[in-house]
Amino acid sequence: MIATKAYAAPAVSTPLAPFKFDRKEVGPNDIQIEILYCGVCHSDLHQIRDEWGGSIFPMVPGHEIVGKVVKVGDAVTKFKVGETAGIGCFVDSCRHCPSCEAGEEQYCDNHLSFTYNGTYKDGAPTYGGYSDQYVVDEQYALHVSDKLPLEGVAPLLCAGITTYSPLMTWKIGKDHKVAVVGLGGLGHMAVKFAASLGAEVTVLSTSASKKEDALKLGAHHFVVTKDEEQVKAVAGTFDFILNTISAQHEYNFYLQMLKLDGTMVLVGIPPEAPQVSAFNLIGKRRRIAGSMIGGIKETQEMLDYCAEHGIVSDVEVINIDYINEAYERMIKNDVRYRFVIDIASLK
Ligand code: NAP
Ligand code: ZN
Ligand code: ZN
Repeated sequence: MIATKAYAAPAVSTPLAPFKFDRKEVGPNDIQIEILYCGVCHSDLHQIRDEWGGSIFPMVPGHEIVGKVVKVGDAVTKFKVGETAGIGCFVDSCRHCPSCEAGEEQYCDNHLSFTYNGTYKDGAPTYGGYSDQYVVDEQYALHVSDKLPLEGVAPLLCAGITTYSPLMTWKIGKDHKVAVVGLGGLGHMAVKFAASLGAEVTVLSTSASKKEDALKLGAHHFVVTKDEEQVKAVAGTFDFILNTISAQHEYNFYLQMLKLDGTMVLVGIPPEAPQVSAFNLIGKRRRIAGSMIGGIKETQEMLDYCAEHGIVSDVEVINIDYINEAYERMIKNDVRYRFVIDIASLK
């Protein structure tokens, strides 16, 4: 067993504190990654507070992991010791259902092992990246280019792929007017990707103070959703809305901004069920859809796209003992635009 240092929430809604546990030994198909950086996702906060139900404690959160490969199993072919590697939101799946066979493991019909707050096939709990190492099957690890600053790469493993994947699925490009709702970790990556794909991008935000940043990130327009005149001006104008809001909100408010045949894709996961007016959909043949992270193949494609185009997350690097304050700031929408833990601060 591999002695591992971490930070964990001992029980629901309790502050994170130092925690020790053992990782499994490196099996023939596994690699051991010494973690350098781990991003802080709003999903970490939802799960520590058990807002989605079924949380497992103690919980070591963290699914935006970047580090160095320090050991490889005998049968490993994809990675070598010394290379940089990443881990996203899941570390195993059934490997034989139609979704797994299509490389869309995140939609596995059987057992998906989430990187934390999940279980391995043998029922043992998974512990995430707020820790100094991870042992993972090489098929569920990603290659990371050393061209980009690694602290900015870590959030690509969740915030990056979660926003890249729907933009690819809906084939977003230069002919589209795209709105990104919520300028947080996911939202700021969505703006970078949509702008890079050539779309005309509008940020819809509750925070007027984020306007300048939004434009710097690549957005063409900024709408403060508390300003009635600004909201009226965008009614019926978007082809595609990517909704990243983490808290309860009025879905109809955003749906009426779609054009004929427009689609709003939900990636944010507030615990409350959406209330949607049928009139708001039928009146303009609008659609509402959802999307969850992305498969290993598409995640690698996204990382390679970022390396090629110089895209990283805008981060505030923190020491791990700042994590509870970081969560408080996240609740107040005070993140510009992703906290990333420097795991060296754990040693
Ligand atoms: P985040 O950094 O906290 O950003 C969320 C943003 O939503 C905030 O910055 C704020 O933007 C906006 N917002 C918050 N409360 C709001 C409210 N009541 N009304 C309107 N807007 C509000 O969170 P994140 O890490 O980007 O995650 C966002 C959501 O996506 C979370 O629910 C997370 O669990 C989920 N998620 C889903 C997937 C997936 O696979 N689908 C993957 C990762 C995360 P403004 O200040 O601009 O208004
Ligand atoms: Zn996440
Ligand atoms: Zn499967």
